[in-house]
Amino acid sequence: MMAWKTLDQMEIAGKKVLTRVDINVPVEDGTVTDTTRIDRIVPTIEAIKAKGGIPILLAHFGRPKGKVVPEMSLRITLPALEEAFGQTVKFADGNYADAVAQLETGDILLLENVRFAPGEEKNDPEFAARLATLGDVYCNDAFSAAHRAHASTEALAKLLPACAGRLMAEELGALEAALGSPNRPVGAVVGGAKVSTKLDLLNNLVEKLDVLIIGGGMANTFLLAKGASLGGSLVEADLTDTAREIMAKAKTTGCRIILPVDGLVAREFKEGAAAEVIALNADTTLEADQMVLDAGPESVHAVLAEFSGLKTLIWNGPLGAFEIPPFDTATVAAAKIAAELTADKRLVSVAGGGDTVAALNQADAADGFTYISTAGGAFLEWMEGKTLPGVAALDQQ
Ligand code: ADP
Ligand code: MG
Repeated sequence: MMAWKTLDQMEIAGKKVLTRVDINVPVEDGTVTDTTRIDRIVPTIEAIKAKGGIPILLAHFGRPKGKVVPEMSLRITLPALEEAFGQTVKFADGNYADAVAQLETGDILLLENVRFAPGEEKNDPEFAARLATLGDVYCNDAFSAAHRAHASTEALAKLLPACAGRLMAEELGALEAALGSPNRPVGAVVGGAKVSTKLDLLNNLVEKLDVLIIGGGMANTFLLAKGASLGGSLVEADLTDTAREIMAKAKTTGCRIILPVDGLVAREFKEGAAAEVIALNADTTLEADQMVLDAGPESVHAVLAEFSGLKTLIWNGPLGAFEIPPFDTATVAAAKIAAELTADKRLVSVAGGGDTVAALNQADAADGFTYISTAGGAFLEWMEGKTLPGVAALDQQ
């Protein structure tokens, strides 16, 4: 449960607040090309300033692996940060103590890429102790880095009064509403390419959900396990036993598993490829070059019927190979309905995953979801039921 403190519960007037953020933004030719991550930390920075605290930003950029790599300097983010915060942002790439000593109320300071230090990824206590001398309070607003036990996400949290930032609190609240203590019935769409990358997810979800809708390439492996022969489709033949185990477990936990009953099948994976709808069941036998690349209309119909019976929906992974039309059809149709049900206040919808977010954007449905997590790995680990070190470290006081 939530034992961590929020910014509102902290005494920070006149204090320096070491704030771990995720500003690992995409950059091309020296400029930030997508400021989403920066925009999302603005409420936290504003809250700290409104309470009279001085934010000192701690962040990583790229994978410098404990060495100074000039191309991975956080300096590159300064113009975008200043634009987002509407003020000058000071920067320190050495002699942090001096830079911190000169801070005044109203200032914001960004420290150089924390991963330039070898102690960061090792969660080195001495490095964390040095960071701790720079501030009075610790605020973690980087949920997307919370699955890693690094000095700036884990060890440091234990050395200072610690709290979750606005974005972190929002993300944890949304996840808690989706899977921690959801309004039932609660269901999930789990799709994407492979069962092998989502085994822990499937195993945790069948324990907690009322309905699990399996789609995408991973549904093929489940159909294979039931006896279908799927030609050139993406399957993981070595995981059919695992698929059977998951289906058996779901029976004991009372989680219904919904598999596609038809698929959009093509012989080529390219835009506009000739595609036909074929029924999918234990007896399906496709020719060697035929591939199931999307769910068919009957399946979409069944998914929509399931959605309308749910109060809470979790979504990770597309229902088909959505990057190439027409194989985005099922994902787009289902995403639009989920967004509509959410708008009608009939559904709480939470989605995450790199390709999932791209697919929901492609369907113009992302804004309609209750919450979209951009946290990738951390989102998945949370959904897998794992303890995130960066969150657990906030729980100690
Ligand atoms: P996420 O990043 O949201 O966790 P995944 O990476 O697990 O999602 O899966 C996304 C990928 O799954 C996409 O590249 C998509 O093309 C692929 N995919 C979905 N359905 C199929 C299918 N039937 N055959 C081949 N690939 C598929
Ligand atoms: Mg992916």
